[in-house]
Amino acid sequence: MHLARFPRVRLFPSPTPLEKLENFSRAVAGPNGGPEIWIKRDDCTVVATGGNKVRKLEWLIGEARAQGATHIVTQGAVQSNHVRQTAAVVRRFGMKCTALLEHRIETNDRDYLNSGNVLLDKLFACTIEYRASGLDMNAEAEKKGAELRAAGENVYVIPGGGSNPVGALGYVSCAQELMQQADEMGLKIDLLVTATGSAGTHAGLVVGLHGINAGVPVLGIGVRLPKDRQEANVHKLAEATAAYLGMQGGIPREAVEANCDYVGAGYGIPTEGMAKAVQLLAQEEGILLDPVYSGKAMAGMIDLIRTGKIGAAKTVVFLHTGGAVGLFGYTSYLEGAMA
Ligand SMILES: *Cc1c(COP(=O)(O)O)cnc(C)c1O
Repeated sequence: MHLARFPRVRLFPSPTPLEKLENFSRAVAGPNGGPEIWIKRDDCTVVATGGNKVRKLEWLIGEARAQGATHIVTQGAVQSNHVRQTAAVVRRFGMKCTALLEHRIETNDRDYLNSGNVLLDKLFACTIEYRASGLDMNAEAEKKGAELRAAGENVYVIPGGGSNPVGALGYVSCAQELMQQADEMGLKIDLLVTATGSAGTHAGLVVGLHGINAGVPVLGIGVRLPKDRQEANVHKLAEATAAYLGMQGGIPREAVEANCDYVGAGYGIPTEGMAKAVQLLAQEEGILLDPVYSGKAMAGMIDLIRTGKIGAAKTVVFLHTGGAVGLFGYTSYLEGAMA
């Protein structure tokens, strides 16, 4: 796969660190031991406190600039990390950003509605419009884009989470980067674990690993949809990304595996397991997860290790997708969980 054929902007120093979690591995291990846990620090992608969307934005903004765009339209939940990272990147290139924020969870909590990512969106002078839950938000973003075009703007619309074949290139590239790091370190990876939401991260990793015949399975831990729908979304995007790259033979359906048993009551609704996982990694390693994605994914990984379901894997890499700014949107819940 020759990624330099596609337009790109460079946003962060790569590779992001790949670190061994000694204390955390010991804390997670059960009576029969447990795997060595490593972490791929995509929370360290620098821009606006970092996160996985920065990788996708290298390619999305690359294409937007190639098309002469001056105004980016995108969408997400109120505490969207994707919107915050997009709002920041756009400023660097002298563009404007309009974001549609969906009231995806019902709450009057002041922190959820105003702190964390929302506060940063406003610091980046992102134009925010709110939408009620349950709309087709990508269609809403397209509508907004058409409106701005009619007013004379050169608009580029980025779908939720930056998840389309262009954005997924960020994680095709990450898969290559990770394998090169592991090979240089002499680290044999048995399993790669990631949170999976709008699917671009998971799909990009699957395509990247398949494309270089890495032989490393990926387990996505879902944060919203049930397993069948999540896997179908990821596989569909993986196929589209492989086609965009001109890869022959497609992506086998079995290469896409998601576990969606750790969502709890719904997207963005905190779980006890999330709060425990966030505290455990913070207290064992001084690393911050987020309440919506990486916290729930880590809760899932811990449970799967402790119940022996990630039994055979000796070395597990957890992809840290960022999002710690979202913790401030969940202040009262986390205070309660620590009491
Ligand atoms: C968006 C996001 C994810 C999920 O990535 P997708 O590509 O949308 O599946 C995971 N973790 C964090 C912190 C995110 O912001």
